[in-house]
Formats: sequence, structure tokens, C-alpha cells
Amino acid sequence: MAEEPPVKRTKTEEDLGAGSEPDAAAAAAAERERPGGEVTVKIQSKALRCRICSEPLKPPIFKCAAGHVLCSQCPEKLREVGHVLRLGTFCALCCKSTSYSRCVELEQFIDAMKVPCSNQTYGCNEFVGYQQKEKHESSCPHAPCYCPEDDCAFKAPACCLLDHFVTAHGWSPTNLGYNKPLKILLARDRRFTLLVGEDMSLFLLINTLTSIGSALAVVCVRPHESEPSYSCNISAAAHGVAGGKTDGRLVFQKDPHVSSSSLAGGVQMGNFFLLVPLEFAETSSGELTVHIRIDRVAP
Ligand SMILES: [Zn+2]
Ligand SMILES: [Zn+2]
Ligand SMILES: [Zn+2]
Ligand SMILES: [Zn+2]
Repeated sequence: MAEEPPVKRTKTEEDLGAGSEPDAAAAAAAERERPGGEVTVKIQSKALRCRICSEPLKPPIFKCAAGHVLCSQCPEKLREVGHVLRLGTFCALCCKSTSYSRCVELEQFIDAMKVPCSNQTYGCNEFVGYQQKEKHESSCPHAPCYCPEDDCAFKAPACCLLDHFVTAHGWSPTNLGYNKPLKILLARDRRFTLLVGEDMSLFLLINTLTSIGSALAVVCVRPHESEPSYSCNISAAAHGVAGGKTDGRLVFQKDPHVSSSSLAGGVQMGNFFLLVPLEFAETSSGELTVHIRIDRVAP
């Protein structure tokens, strides 16, 4: 049996009458401008990318005579290629000689466009200028931080990490007062010690076991390097007893600027760490006694 050809229908007045009122009302509502003169649109991201190199378009934007939009770099590159090929100024999409001019219309459109911050799912409700998006996100306080535990993919704003560390991994946070030393008994194989500052800043004391000792470093868990800044002193004393007296050996390190990390790439050893020799550990328990002091640094 032959298939019936698809029936092409155009909307009749009847269609647009009472029966389709909800559709018409929805469309009208969608198009209604907000008080600030704004409308919400969704747009294919490729419409805002250079037709040649696919980089995001930012003014100055160019177009060929046929309207292919290009980033600021590509017309010059095509000019050079055209010179070598003796084609003059040409468009790789038109495949022929052309001329380029500024695409002021798209520049104005991009200037007027606001986009949501990528951290919307983490609580940022900001709409920022399309061109300011990168700048905003580089300091957005809602940007996520990552759980450093192996095989855990959790990420959330820093304020939610504390709860995750406690409930998902059973970590016991230690409250930390600034400008005063804190004594920590550190099990040899405890990788992370969570310290919570007076201002609820999260610090991780990271213990990396090496063949010659434990490398200790402190990192502030937050999405960006921002105020306030912190400095840190870590010291460890030997537990060993020599000739009836305590060994007396001490190692210490000062980090004048505790680095901030979202832990996006996992835990990385920075420039400042304290190497505590293996023999500093208490013989029976294997614990290290560590003193740590974190100071808030005046801006
Ligand atoms: Zn381009
Ligand atoms: Zn073209
Ligand atoms: Zn944001
Ligand atoms: Zn986790």
C-alpha cells in the first residue's frame, strides 16, 4: 500500500481562534518584555563563534561580503593565505575573493547580551555581560571546590564541603584560632587534616608520605585566590629519646602566603612544605606531633 504523502498544513484563522488561545497567550507571554526592557532568549552557541576558527566572537567582529562572521584574527590570516595563493582577500567559506568589513550589528548584539554565570547550579544567580562572563567566573564566590579523596567526584561551593567531609568521609574538623599555635597529633598515614578557621575558611593540612619522611603542606580550600590572605608556620619536634633526653631536633617551615586551591586538579604540592624525617614519629604509635599556626595577613 502506497504511503500517504505528508499533509502540509498552514494555520487557518480557525486554528488561530479560540482553540489555540493558550498557545497564543504563551507566545505573547514569552515575548513580553520585562520591565527593564529585557527578553530571555536561547541561542545556539555556534552562532557566537567564528565561522573559521570556532573561537568565541568578541568585538571587533568582521564579516565577508556574503555575511560570514569572523573573529578579529581570521581576516588577517586569510589575507596572508590569499596573498600566497594569489587570490587576494578571500573567504574560505565563500571560496572566492571578497572584502571584509566590521559586523557592527553583531557587535552591538553581543554588547547587549547578558548570560547566566556557569555556576548557576552552585547558587550563583548573576547574569553578566557576555564579554564579562570569564572575568566574573574567575572570581565568582559560588565556583565549586572539589573533594580531594580518591574516587570521590563531589564538588560544591566551599561552604558545602565541610558537611561533605564530615558526613561522607567521617573527617573530624579541628577548629583553628588565628595567630596562635595549634598542636596536632598526626597519624603517619593520615593524608588530610581539616582545619576550620574562625571565619569558617577551610584549610587542609596535607600529609604526603615519601621514602625519607612526611611532606606537610597547608592549602586554603576556596575557588580563587582572594582576600583575606593567610601565612602559616608549621613545625615538628622529634619524639625520639637520645641518652635519656628528648632528641631536641626541630624542623619548621614558614609559608608567607598560604596558597588557595579549589582542588580541581587534585592535591598538588606547592612551593612550601615541611619535610618531617621518618624518625620524628613516635615509635609505638607512629604519630607525628605538629604545631601549626595560621595568621591572617593584613591586605
Ligand atoms: Zn576566527
Ligand atoms: Zn564568506
Ligand atoms: Zn557567578
Ligand atoms: Zn568526597
